[in-house]
Amino acid sequence: MSSKYRMPVSEFIQESKAGSINYTDFYSKLFEKIRETDKKHNLFITLSEKEAKADTKKIQKGALTALPVSVKDNICTKGIRTTAGSKILDNYIPPFDATCIEKTKKEGGIIIGKTAQDEFGFGTFSVNCAYETPKNPLDPLRSCGGSSGGAAGITAALDMPHIALAESTGGSISCPASFCGVAGLTPTYGRVSRQGLIDYASSLDKIGIMAKKTSDISLMLGIIAGRDKREATSLDASVPDYTKVGADIKGMKIGIPKEYFSDEIDKKIKKQVLDTISKLEGLGAKTGECSLPNTEYAVSAYYIIAMTEASTNLAKFCGQRYGACEPLEGDFNQYYSHVRGKYFGEEAKRRVLLGTYARMAGYRDQYYLRAMKVRQLIIDDYKRAFKKFDVLAAPTMPFVAPKFTEIEKLKPVDHYNADILTVPANLAGIPMISVPCGKKDEMPVGIHMMADHLGEENVLKAGMAVEGLNL
Ligand code: GLN
Repeated sequence: MSSKYRMPVSEFIQESKAGSINYTDFYSKLFEKIRETDKKHNLFITLSEKEAKADTKKIQKGALTALPVSVKDNICTKGIRTTAGSKILDNYIPPFDATCIEKTKKEGGIIIGKTAQDEFGFGTFSVNCAYETPKNPLDPLRSCGGSSGGAAGITAALDMPHIALAESTGGSISCPASFCGVAGLTPTYGRVSRQGLIDYASSLDKIGIMAKKTSDISLMLGIIAGRDKREATSLDASVPDYTKVGADIKGMKIGIPKEYFSDEIDKKIKKQVLDTISKLEGLGAKTGECSLPNTEYAVSAYYIIAMTEASTNLAKFCGQRYGACEPLEGDFNQYYSHVRGKYFGEEAKRRVLLGTYARMAGYRDQYYLRAMKVRQLIIDDYKRAFKKFDVLAAPTMPFVAPKFTEIEKLKPVDHYNADILTVPANLAGIPMISVPCGKKDEMPVGIHMMADHLGEENVLKAGMAVEGLNL
């Protein structure tokens, strides 16, 4: 059906700039394909077909000229419903665009819809969803990963040019990218403005990108990165031309953190990742083992910090200022409890309760402050490793995309422990990329590559090199 348009992003943009794409035809086929996929896989919460088609009548020329861009539903899009995957925001239509959306539109990108996610980003498998659960396009009995499940799913499913904007707090880009077999970049904390992102945990949230190819990510990163006056944590660092990054890794020093190859990680996955690393050695990279000794404390520290911040960030959803409201009855506390009890899902409630507990007077020192100290130790571990290495490489996830029947058997803490390989880098705020490096049980395996703060060029380069191996 869409074979005419089965082309890489770069070719589409070139043809689009040259005026040789019939946008009416292209976008009709695109939405036909998306609707067909969505029936089986639930990858979108909201499709913005009408708005996208209207945009094609006044194409903005730029680096993305008419390229379809999907957006995770926790990134605000003017005039397009933005729920963050929660029923409490079911009717929320932002009156403004997030900075990354403004920048995307300025370069001619067209927003095609809002992708499925765990409620507020609270999850690893996209099963904590207030809307339909997204299903892996490679096997609908399996998870897409989370929390950016819809973004990874549509990137894998769509055989037409497209880039996805997503978000990670503790692994929500790397995990689904690995489960769905696409490339996913989480930039340095602050590299991309968070203005217009619905917060999960403000000291951890990062807007990032998923695409079929790393070079598409490089293109998009150059567009959305940079200082934003409206967002105090956005970094005031110049933005390199990421599209100049090539796949030549000769001389690149790749570290292999031994704690990331523990017994909890599937043997075949470890082997595949190590084989990939030795192939990179064949391309001229230099490799060596290193140690990140505080890795074992990362999951506990992450969940304390993430839930603590989430519990304060979610306080604004009280049935008064945003989203759902109910007829006013009882006193304030009764009213808030009623609204929040009715519209938050189970995992959101769990996190508000645990997060509030961890920051209560009397417990704060024991939990939150201690977790913050561990966070610093983890940052120091990486700093030490990056004195010797340009990039660290490890498996992205301990296993391939699990079946829903397997996930049903897990306890909440098993979900959290699945993040062991992705939360440390997210706690440290360093850039990371997951790219596919082969398969296990017919499902993709991801290799995770991390670099020092603002080392995006190194992870992009390493990502391109792995893609070049055609595994
Ligand atoms: N799985 C992690 C969590 O539930 C990460 C989610 C994310 O990055 N948004 O917190």
